[in-house]
Amino acid sequence: MEQSSKDSYRKIKGIVLTSMILVPLIPFILILGIGYFYFTSSVEHSSIASIKRIVEDHRQMVASFLGERKSDLELIADSYSFTELVRENTIRVVYDHLHKKAPAFADLGVFDENGVHVAYEGPFKLTGKVYNEAAWFKEVIKKGYFISDVFLGYRRIPHFCIALMRTEDGKKWVIRATIDTHMFNDMVKKVRIGKTGEAYILNAEGIFQTERRSGGSLMNKDPDTVELPRPHSGIKTFTEKDARGDKYLYATTWLKDNRWFLVVRQEVADAFKALRSAGYLIALITVMGGAAIVGIAIFETNRIVGRMEQLDAEKDQLGEQLVRASRLAEIGEMATGIAHEINNPLQVMKSEKTLIDTILSDLKDRGELKESEDLKELEDSIDQINLQIDRCSKITHAVLKFGRQNDAISTEIDLGVFIPEVIGMITNKASVEGITITQDILADIPSIQGDQGHFQQVLINLFNNAIYAIVERHGSEGGELAVGAGLNDDGMVRTYVRDDGAGISPENLKKVFSPFFTTKPVGKGTGLGLSVCYGIIDAMGGVMRVSSQKGLGTTFTIDLPVAGSK
Ligand code: ADP
Repeated sequence: MEQSSKDSYRKIKGIVLTSMILVPLIPFILILGIGYFYFTSSVEHSSIASIKRIVEDHRQMVASFLGERKSDLELIADSYSFTELVRENTIRVVYDHLHKKAPAFADLGVFDENGVHVAYEGPFKLTGKVYNEAAWFKEVIKKGYFISDVFLGYRRIPHFCIALMRTEDGKKWVIRATIDTHMFNDMVKKVRIGKTGEAYILNAEGIFQTERRSGGSLMNKDPDTVELPRPHSGIKTFTEKDARGDKYLYATTWLKDNRWFLVVRQEVADAFKALRSAGYLIALITVMGGAAIVGIAIFETNRIVGRMEQLDAEKDQLGEQLVRASRLAEIGEMATGIAHEINNPLQVMKSEKTLIDTILSDLKDRGELKESEDLKELEDSIDQINLQIDRCSKITHAVLKFGRQNDAISTEIDLGVFIPEVIGMITNKASVEGITITQDILADIPSIQGDQGHFQQVLINLFNNAIYAIVERHGSEGGELAVGAGLNDDGMVRTYVRDDGAGISPENLKKVFSPFFTTKPVGKGTGLGLSVCYGIIDAMGGVMRVSSQKGLGTTFTIDLPVAGSK
């Protein structure tokens, strides 16, 4: 192939390949990207919404817990007077009732206006202790109601209390209950989201009011929240790294008049876990889909460009074949002309030979020529000349017959005689290639109607193709060619030519009757033989078919009407 056409195929290949890759790849990646974007934001929204919902639930739960405990205490303070409560045993009875109703109450105490613990029921010995300097006491006296942060107090264990102030006969007194921090703690802690989700409460100084599952004891400073957000209403969500460097998704809200800070948090990797798997999946789909697109594009491009190259080659070949065919036609015409020219002198020679014969026999009759060895030799020579003239005229006739094929002369053809004659023409060629020819012609086979020269051309073509295919498979030894004629089921005359040659692939089988289809090397085949044969048989009112198995052999059948049947 020329360099320039190689370059142009390379260019076409580049263009086709690029567009075949880019056209599907761009929308493919766009769709995946958009899909991933929407998926990501939907996962983020739903994770944030769910963590917000948990904070909201918790906020309500803590508020209603504290509200209920406050109402419990208010009921007592409103039902009993200070004097009643400090009376022997009353506080115990009241506490028992209270504890039954709300087990979160750990103790109950009553204080006079000087902060002296005048009545107490609970696990510690706190009666008589003075609290007038305690922060909570000061607060409750000031505000009438107070819920403390978690503190140690006299009992030296973390707890928090709810206290109410009442006035009786102009004197202030206080009722206070301690809340079981464990119960409160468990209530806040019990949230579960994913693997790392947790909830806890800090006070305004960032001190743990409940424990934190991932580390953080009561009353310790939270190492992660350096600065608490300023008090705000509603829920805030944000992501931040903790002291260990793990990134968390936070949802927070302020409780208890902005004195407690409720935090629900979950590690970002855990909260957005679905995103990571989706990311892997999308990366996998991108790689596999991209590879499939590139693979198919390369395969298809090679196929298309290959087909283009093949078509171009076929076009070039077609041109060459046309030139060769026209040259053959010219040679044919020339040969016919020469044959015609030679035929005339042959006729003259023939009549001269007849004249010589007549003269010789006259001379003999008149006794002027005696029988002798020389005369005998002369007569043999004349016979030889006669024989050679006959051979030459046979050849010229054959050439003329071939040349006149365009002007078809339809006659009845007796295949019983005709087929053996045509076989006779290729017997030599076949035996040189070691091919055995078998004939099976039905006795008294009905004649067909057609031009003998044309039908001969068909058979010779089939024989030549068969010999070529046999040599291709067997070399010059062991091939078989079977020729036969009989009647088919429809009463038509069927001629078949069967060989055990190389056979035809199913793909080529569809094309064998197409003009210019040839698998033979340049110079050996024109690809016109079978298409011309097909045309001839069709014109004779018949059908030509082929069946073949690659590597096993081929059979051509010709069905023709019986002469005079139409
Ligand atoms: P040509 O002989 O010039 O190639 P034809 O039209 O006679 O043209 O045949 C076309 C093609 O059909 C051949 O090139 C060959 O591939 C295939 N063919 C024809 N006859 C046979 C056969 N008997 N066995 C195998 N292949 C055949």
